[in-house]
Amino acid sequence: MIAQVIVDVSAYPVDRPFDYLVPQNMEQLIEAGCRVKVPFGHRDVLGFVVGFVDETDVPQNKLKQVSKLLDIEPVITEEMLAMSKWMTHKTLCYEIDALQVMLPSALRAKYEKNVQLLVELNQIDPQLAAQFGQKTVVPYKKFENAQLLEVLKSSIKKQQLQTVTVVKQQGKMKSVRKFEVQDDAQQLQTINEQLSNRAKKQKQAIEWLSNHIGERFTPQELLKQAGISASVLKAIAELGVGRFIDEETYRDPFSHEVGHTKALQLTEEQSTALSDITTTMNQQKATTFLLHGVTGSGKTEVYLQAIQKTINEGKEAIVLVPEISLTPMMTERFRGRFGELVAVMHSGLSQGEKYDEWRKIQRGEVKVVVGARSAIFAPFTNVGLIILDEEHESTYKQEDTPRYHARDVAIWRSEFYNCPVILGSATPALESFARAQKGVYHLLSLKQRAKSQALPVVEIVDMRDELHKGNRSMFSISLAEAIRQRLERKEQMVLFLNRRGYSSFVLCRDCGTVVQCQNCDISLTYHRSSEKLRCHYCGYEEHVPTECPECQSEHIRFFGTGTQKIESEIYKVFPEARVIRMDVDTTRQKGAHERLLEDFGAGKADILLGTQMIAKGLDFPNITLVGVMSADTSLNLPDFRAAEKTYQLLTQVSGRAGRHELPGEVIIQTYTPEHYAIELAQAQIFEPFYDQEMTLRRRFAYPPYFYVVLIQISHEDVMKAAEYAGLASDFVRQNLSNQVQLIGPTAASISRIQNRYRYQCLIKYKREPQLNDVLKKLIKLYRTDWIKKGVLMTVDLDPSSF
Ligand code: ADP
Ligand code: ZN
Ligand code: ZN
Repeated sequence: MIAQVIVDVSAYPVDRPFDYLVPQNMEQLIEAGCRVKVPFGHRDVLGFVVGFVDETDVPQNKLKQVSKLLDIEPVITEEMLAMSKWMTHKTLCYEIDALQVMLPSALRAKYEKNVQLLVELNQIDPQLAAQFGQKTVVPYKKFENAQLLEVLKSSIKKQQLQTVTVVKQQGKMKSVRKFEVQDDAQQLQTINEQLSNRAKKQKQAIEWLSNHIGERFTPQELLKQAGISASVLKAIAELGVGRFIDEETYRDPFSHEVGHTKALQLTEEQSTALSDITTTMNQQKATTFLLHGVTGSGKTEVYLQAIQKTINEGKEAIVLVPEISLTPMMTERFRGRFGELVAVMHSGLSQGEKYDEWRKIQRGEVKVVVGARSAIFAPFTNVGLIILDEEHESTYKQEDTPRYHARDVAIWRSEFYNCPVILGSATPALESFARAQKGVYHLLSLKQRAKSQALPVVEIVDMRDELHKGNRSMFSISLAEAIRQRLERKEQMVLFLNRRGYSSFVLCRDCGTVVQCQNCDISLTYHRSSEKLRCHYCGYEEHVPTECPECQSEHIRFFGTGTQKIESEIYKVFPEARVIRMDVDTTRQKGAHERLLEDFGAGKADILLGTQMIAKGLDFPNITLVGVMSADTSLNLPDFRAAEKTYQLLTQVSGRAGRHELPGEVIIQTYTPEHYAIELAQAQIFEPFYDQEMTLRRRFAYPPYFYVVLIQISHEDVMKAAEYAGLASDFVRQNLSNQVQLIGPTAASISRIQNRYRYQCLIKYKREPQLNDVLKKLIKLYRTDWIKKGVLMTVDLDPSSF
């Protein structure tokens, strides 16, 4: 028996399975999709069995054996094997990378601790039965050594055993040692009566336990609740009062969140959308829906009811959200409706917890998975629905090998299972809306808010005028007035800073020097909590300088309007205001994000002040004002999607206002009110923005009119980086048709990260049948030759920015 194994050897130039001989004692257990350890070069590496063959070209004396089998039940399903083939083609990754990304990190390495088998034995021999019982848990190691297997086999031969069934693999579960009170009250009484009166503690214990027939307790619980000490417990266990068992439990960090909500009566628009979706479910057709609904139109309710139908049919649903830690309200709604049937794949979970969730999904113990990008690989085997909420978010694209987009994987899986995909957004990605226009996706529109509230009124404030009016505050006259009103009326508001959480840099007022990372071409950012400057690319840290490193001036200051600065400004202007600030600094602790939102929801603050992390998913009835401190920040990014992202962000935050009974108002402060992304965000109708942006994309040959490939090359030596970028672009130019546009090589927008100099080339094309082959050859060249010379190269077929 010969297994074909994809090995985990990074940067090996050849992407194909290798043949390994399966040792005899492994033959009965090994299956396609199992992880193995195999010798490769001078060491053992992890591998995935992808198939079996009878013959091999490898000469007998060269053929090596599988050294270890790591799984009894395959972790890679047939679907995943097929998906990995597709992904290697789609993203130009190697198969090993595709397989690895589908698994929880615990399974990406050698992970065999506590792997156990539950073996069901059908005994004939009473002695053996007494020894093992009907079911027995066997450490997997014993199987591997073939000892146990031999024992069992010979037992079958000797007719002591009839059958041996390996029921399932017990993953890494936490087992809790418990004392189980036996369930015969009569017998307990008898034991008690036979005890001498001097055994007072034992008698007391038995009396207490008599009221808890058949129940299980940890020794700690017994000590606390009934004062039964460990030694007493041991003694009475020996008398037969109960027994110790290892109860296996899943770690469930979310158990406290379970609640219950009922399905809402749908609006007409919602119910039309839902019925289109359920129709394709009934027809078992793979259809991709673009659910384009204004903020507050009740997209989530449509998801929930579509999921309900999926569950009713015995199928499973996958729900993706952009960043799960930032969307606690969203997750709560799924938990609220489906309770224990929901698994939440949260980045805050430990490796073990993630693995447990993964196993629950694999065993079908849950029906719904809510998670960020990687949850798209949830190992369900009967998928009935896939949802991407806020489908335009760039977090759905993985910026690391394999560079897949969750949207593509969703559509691939929907075709595998013949089920629908719902892409939901108030501001769809241009690519998606274009596909909907062409009829590739099925467009569903929700134009009204669910409770027929009006969309908020949006006012654009030109901050240049404020200066002319002599207002030097960071609050425009309009915004200040609006805040004052809300404080008086005891309504709540959101103030939004269009920035990532970190934004303060240190600048010398005398010479203009900005303190930079010594390894990267990027300014260091100030973190108040650690009182240090940190690089967000390499993690480098240093103390805040007291004088300028260039001119030694002492006039060196923090710069950039950070949330902290706005907070103190609010307190200055509105001393009575209560503020909750939400940014990377205040949400670093586990659960802090949820806690802050809870406090805000409970009315413990008037103002929620935050960065991009508050743009998503907030649904509080009392918010009547949203203020955007400065809309321009994201417009100035060197990114062809800058306008699109700005528009999306402004629409998102605006959508937080007036979602319930109270009407909402939005004030956007900007220095470029004439920019179309800002002007059109005011109208809150998507189509005009779409038209305008598409015109520009066509003019400059950007996606979605053109496809783009981004090749990035880095090297510690700037000359080498430039040289190999040149070689890469020559290679592409020589091998592709003259239909493609090749831009570069140029220095990347951040020209140095971690002391590596970075260059890039951009390929723009409409149709280029040769493209994949040429790029594969380039990658092979890189892997065989360039990599040894210290070059790093990445190829991205669908870059989200460049
Ligand atoms: P979206 O996800 O489109 O922004 P939500 O699903 O958050 O919108 O819905 C906005 C608000 O409207 C929520 O408070 C939700 O509970 C409520 N809602 C949604 N659908 C209905 C409905 N059919 N009837 C009443 N309220 C609804
Ligand atoms: Zn200086
Ligand atoms: Zn750095």
